[in-house]
Amino acid sequence: MPMRQPFLSLKLGPLKLAGMIAVTYAGFTLAAMFIASYVVTNMATSKLQMTELELWKGIAFVVSTAGVVFYLSFVFLHWLSEREKELSSHRQALIRSEQRGMAGLLASAVAHNLKNQLCVLIETVEELNRTHMFAEEVQRLHEQVDSIYQMVQELQQIGRERQGEPASVFDFSRVVKESVRMGRLHPKVRACEVTVDTPQQLLCRGYPAWIRQMLFNFLLNAAEAMGGRGSVRVSLREDEDGIWLTVSDTGPGVPHDEVPNLFQPFFTTKEWGTGLGLFSIRAAAEAHGGRVSYRPGPLGGAEFQVWFPPRMREGAALHRPNGFTEPPPTGSHP
Ligand code: ADP
Repeated sequence: MPMRQPFLSLKLGPLKLAGMIAVTYAGFTLAAMFIASYVVTNMATSKLQMTELELWKGIAFVVSTAGVVFYLSFVFLHWLSEREKELSSHRQALIRSEQRGMAGLLASAVAHNLKNQLCVLIETVEELNRTHMFAEEVQRLHEQVDSIYQMVQELQQIGRERQGEPASVFDFSRVVKESVRMGRLHPKVRACEVTVDTPQQLLCRGYPAWIRQMLFNFLLNAAEAMGGRGSVRVSLREDEDGIWLTVSDTGPGVPHDEVPNLFQPFFTTKEWGTGLGLFSIRAAAEAHGGRVSYRPGPLGGAEFQVWFPPRMREGAALHRPNGFTEPPPTGSHP
């Protein structure tokens, strides 16, 4: 509970406040001196008794003024430290908001350039599609290009979100299952056993392409940590505190002393690593107002968990998510 500061809450300037304290002090001490001298003169019956009483008067004066000095300096120092804490938290908030502004600007600029290049790529895939050769491969290429295109659009949207444009409505469960399906195609993940556990449907408001990238990064990291063989468990659940996306693996986990660096940009223990995978996961979580954390998992390896706030669900259930071209999936499945 914050301490009450009777003097400081008067909101006087420093000069007036110091003057007021000095005048109050002088008033009290003069009054105390006069009263004490009067009492001593009237009580003392001998010179010796008077000297003794004067000594006790002096001691009482020193003790009481020390008490007052202690109280005033405590109030003042306490107030100073509270102000310092308040200022430092404002400073941090300002830095964070500036960083977000810069990140949004950068995201929009990168997205703009990527989109131009992607248009050419999409046109080429369309051309291939028309030849009806390698139908399955072309379809896969199509899905990947679509996913990248959507990601780029959402990257731009994150910048615009600051100006009030809302994120899109999507089925989180479906995005998780689709991402795992795509992730399994990666050569490093192919030999791993990946299980998925999600609710039947979970309509949310957010940036599905970023969630796909998030899962892709988690899967790839797990597969790399396990040397391409082992098990990964992906689970999605919702409770009153929010939505929880958890990825656990049977790899070696993260050494204790490396944990604090995990989500810092460019932190990597791999020879050819970029150290941007977990950092981008953190950025994606924060773009949704969420958080990502690490802990040793129940499968003996790493466990990463992303928490999304309950407000991601707000208004989403009233909408039909984008791209609902097939019937909704039926229940949790491995
Ligand atoms: P990169 O994969 O390029 O190294 P990341 O940011 O994705 O970058 O990962 C940073 C580091 O975190 C990795 O180099 C690795 O040491 C550690 N890490 C990430 N995921 C796992 C995991 N599932 N198991 C063990 N270590 C992991």
